[in-house]
Amino acid sequence: MDHFELRDGVLHAEDIPLPQIAAEVGTPVYVYSRATLERHAQVFRDALKDVPKKHLAFAIKCNPNLGVLRVLARQGYGADVVSGGELERALASGMAAEDIVFSGVGKTRAELAQGLDRGIGQFNIEHEPEGAALAEIALARETTANAVLRVNPDVDAGTHAKISTGKAENKFGVGIDVAPQIFARLAALPGLNLRGVALHIGSQLTSLAPLEAAFERVGLLVSDLRAAGHSITHVDLGGGLGVPYKPGDNPPSPADYGAMVARVTKDWDVTLMFEPGRVIAGNTGVLLTEVLWVKPGASNPFVIVDAAMNDLARPALYDAYHDFVAVKPTGEKMTASIVGPVCETGDTFARDREIDAVQAGDLAVFRTAGAYGATMASTYNSRSLVPEVLVDGGRYIVVADRIAAGTIMAAERVPDWID
Ligand SMILES: *Cc1c(COP(=O)(O)O)cnc(C)c1O
Repeated sequence: MDHFELRDGVLHAEDIPLPQIAAEVGTPVYVYSRATLERHAQVFRDALKDVPKKHLAFAIKCNPNLGVLRVLARQGYGADVVSGGELERALASGMAAEDIVFSGVGKTRAELAQGLDRGIGQFNIEHEPEGAALAEIALARETTANAVLRVNPDVDAGTHAKISTGKAENKFGVGIDVAPQIFARLAALPGLNLRGVALHIGSQLTSLAPLEAAFERVGLLVSDLRAAGHSITHVDLGGGLGVPYKPGDNPPSPADYGAMVARVTKDWDVTLMFEPGRVIAGNTGVLLTEVLWVKPGASNPFVIVDAAMNDLARPALYDAYHDFVAVKPTGEKMTASIVGPVCETGDTFARDREIDAVQAGDLAVFRTAGAYGATMASTYNSRSLVPEVLVDGGRYIVVADRIAAGTIMAAERVPDWID
């Protein structure tokens, strides 16, 4: 459920008509709904009501906007971060350091030190040398790092290959078969409080079966580690729950996920940690765009919009589907391909799709753009960096400015030794 609805034939974000934002901020622009964000945060928490000890860390890579993070901080969420930059964002948004989990496959020594200096709650160690480096850095600071070991449970998440992370051939974590030996060596290091394990098998999962299989494997690992004398107090189950993008999509609900988690983990006696991203933010945002031209094509027309692959990369990157709807739908339909202005054939949002009939000058949105949208934006083709707006009832604010191509150009220079 979201708060982007038609009122008197005009698409609104909560109480704000989208044409108002287009007129005042310009297009393309991401528009987020605070009420939707809060609702998703609450629904996910409620779904875990049968999990006695839990920690919720929003995977901020999917939407690191400070305004968005502030809303989630107020909902009691911490952050799952994957870089030093994200770590600073989480803190700047008001999240407590101890509520921050540091994941990421290639943390630098400087980032490990930064995490320690900031006093974050937990490091998710990706492999043995990283754990050893963290222990050494912690020891030098006369402190102890809370950590868990990320394991790769070797299950097929059944999602797009580029966002699948839990197969043996993926770069993430240590193989679950070798995890007990690595765990034992790392647990022996002073400077490290190795207190559990973590997993995250992929994103946009549309079935619970791979998650359940992975959790079962991790449950066995926890028993083995305890049998070997280790104290296991934390298990991080990662994120990955899918959201509906297309009409008719029916991914598992947070409630189904929560019930499965409670059932599979009921005897674990640990604090369960969660790193939801897309399921919290996906449906809280739309990308508002203006139709620039409608151009005849070989079979169907091209609807050329002012948003492009640099603003919303998912279709080009993963062949992702984003619903496209007119801000003032007439009820008429057309079959068209929706493309952006960037000079790449990959700058295509939809091919030969039946959509609301639109003409040059009309406004439209790509829905479900709140996760992995603005955060992946670039300035390719010397386009501006897309702005973001947060709506709260009848008011809104620009939570990220449009960064003009000229501002980016101003950060470049021509060497005076070229003439
Ligand atoms: C990306 C990521 C997540 C969030 O994934 P979603 O599919 O957006 O829920 C959680 N944990 C880790 C380690 C990640 O890399």
